Amino acid sequence: MITPTPKKILLVDDDRFLLDMYAIKFTKANYEVKTADSTDAGLKLVRDGYIPDIILSDIVMPGMDGLEMVDAIKKENLAPKATIIMLTNQGSSDDVARARKLDIDGYIVKATTVPSEVLHAVENILVSKKPI
Ligand SMILES: [Mg+2]
Repeated sequence: MITPTPKKILLVDDDRFLLDMYAIKFTKANYEVKTADSTDAGLKLVRDGYIPDIILSDIVMPGMDGLEMVDAIKKENLAPKATIIMLTNQGSSDDVARARKLDIDGYIVKATTVPSEVLHAVENILVSKKPI
């Protein structure tokens, strides 16, 4: 049997603790993980040629927020095939509305920060999307 190529996931969150927890979880689940603790760092990675299969990003971050970063990535066509998933704060319908406008693939309400639940949510979104 051929082992499938690990999917590349870019994790963007200004909370280093969450970022590290998710990085460990996704690495263990055979994803190839890159992390960025700011939108600037995330944007720089893709502008420098890193092409993730999945972008999982927080929204509320200092400077440019996660949705603005995704908007820039889309406008510059930096990761056209990437599945884009946002971590939103509970009850922030404004964020959800903005996320919908950007045509992202899914969002995870940030009340669910248990890494295994986030992994599960990401995999559900991937299954519901076309293969990448
Ligand atoms: Mg944040």
